[in-house]
This record gives sequence, structure tokens and C-alpha cells, in this order.
Amino acid sequence: MRNLLSQPSKKRMYLFKNADHLHNFLQPFRKNGRSIGFVPTMGALHQGHLSLVNQSLAENDITVSSIFVNPTQFNKKNDLDRYPRTPTIDVKKLAKVGNHVLFMPSQAEMYPQESDNTALAFDFKGLDQPMEGAYRPGHFQGVAQIVYLLLQLVRPTRLYMGQKDFQQVAIVRSLIEQTKLEVNLVMCPIIRAEDGLALSSRNVRLQPNSRLKAVALYQALSLAKKQIPQLGSLQTQKNAIAFLEAQAIQVDYFEIVDGYTLQTIDDFEKTDFVVACVAAYFDDIRLIDNMILKEI
Ligand code: AMP
Repeated sequence: MRNLLSQPSKKRMYLFKNADHLHNFLQPFRKNGRSIGFVPTMGALHQGHLSLVNQSLAENDITVSSIFVNPTQFNKKNDLDRYPRTPTIDVKKLAKVGNHVLFMPSQAEMYPQESDNTALAFDFKGLDQPMEGAYRPGHFQGVAQIVYLLLQLVRPTRLYMGQKDFQQVAIVRSLIEQTKLEVNLVMCPIIRAEDGLALSSRNVRLQPNSRLKAVALYQALSLAKKQIPQLGSLQTQKNAIAFLEAQAIQVDYFEIVDGYTLQTIDDFEKTDFVVACVAAYFDDIRLIDNMILKEI
């Protein structure tokens, strides 16, 4: 153990399925003041996930990743059933980048019947109402529930989450404030394919023509970034939606919001942190993306 405490093994990745075993393994690291970076995921890993792991590896003594397809954040059962699962490949990818510890619990491990986790309810002060919150009822309570359970277990120094899920980052920031957990939340940039499509586990399910079409999300966001200083938020939003609908893309929303409150902005000049967020369907695959339009 002494060896491990001084330097987590570069060659070997520790895999835990049991929460107590993970807790016991991490305890000596904590006691010795080692920093722990944590990257929660739902698997089907791609370069976006691995960028979070790499950042954690660079900034912490030990990096813990988790893979758990969390049922409580899916508001549609068939979305949960069809969620891509590639555990064997994921383990190899994580080991290859040098991830130290992987937690891969079963559903029973995270939600044992005797504990009533559904009783957990957080007040996000409206952050959970617009956009994803409006289209996926209960989604963010489910996200908060699993992130809270994982944070209590891992007790990381830093938590790494992607800007790709911008609203989720806001929710988790609020969760950390509400629960007074001592963890630094690090938001990592969106990793994109060469044509601009944000990497997502769901992309593998796109038909070839939809995959080509999906770049329109990035194009609409880029167009908005270019237009908003001249046209203002309302016209920019209208243009972005028209751009997508002209390609027969079914748009759930294209919102231009204050990055802190997630409320629709009405004055671009007077708002310090402006983010455009979009959700749209390609066949029956729902994709989300966003872009920071202004940050002072
Ligand atoms: P998921 O497995 O979809 O729950 O994602 C796990 C983490 O990876 C979340 O914090 C996501 O925001 C992040 N993530 C997903 N896609 C990307 C991407 N393209 N670039 C950066 N981070 C991402």
C-alpha cells in the first residue's frame, strides 16, 4: 500500500463494482492528503469523456472514473433501453489513457431496495425548469440523485464535467452549494468531430445521412455567435431555428440564455455570460449542443 500511496500504478487500473470496496481503497489516499479527481460517465466512451479523464490525470494525484447508466435520469424507458453500452471497450480505453480507478456498480449497488433514494429532492431555484428540464421532466432530479450518491462515496477534490451538458453543470454546481460538499467543479470544453459535431455516445446510433445532417447544430450555434452582436438575441434565435427547420430538422429548442441563471436574455450588450443551447432530433435520436456566445 505504501507504494500505491506514493504513486498510483501507471500500468494497472483498479476496477471496483462494490461501493464499500471503493470507499476502503480511497480512504488511505484521503488520509494522506492526496487529491482525487472524479469523472462520472454513463459509458460508451469517446474522446470527449477521455478529455475529462486526461484533465483529471494532469491535475490530481489519483483519478477515479465511473460508468453507470443511471435509470433515474431517463424519462423515457426506451431511451434507457437503447442507450449504447460498450463496457469491455470502455475499460480498455480508460486503461490506455492511464485512468487509475474505475467504479462500475450495478443498479442494485447504487439503488439498494431498502434505501429510499427517490426521497432525495433538491431545489435548483429554477435552473431545472427551462430547456432540458422542460423537455425531460424529472431528468435533473435523477442526475442530482446519482451525482450526490457518487460524490458522497468518492469524496473527490475535483469533479470533472463537460460543457457539452451545460445545464447539467449548472445543476451540479447548485447541488454542491445546497449540500455543502467540499468539491471543486471543473467544467471542461466540448470536444467536437472534425466537422464540428459535438461528440456524444448517442452519435453512434445516427444513420449515415443523419450523421452528416447533424453538423447543422454546430453551424446554427456558430451562426448565432456571429450574428448576435448585430442582430440581438431574439432575431438571432429566430434565424437559428429557421436555419435548422429549413433542413427539416425537428427542433425542441434553441435558447439564448444567461449562463448563470439559464433564463432567456433580452439584452445581449448588458449580459456578461451568454450561452446558446440547442436540442434537436435526427431520426429518433435527440442531440444537444451549446456554445458560449459571450463571457466577460
Ligand atoms: P455522459 O456519459 O454522456 O453522461 O457524459 C459524461 C461526462 O462527459 C459529462 O460530464 C459530459 O458533459 C461529458 N461529455 C460528453 N460529451 C462530451 C464532449 N463531446 N466533450 C466534452 N465532454 C463531454
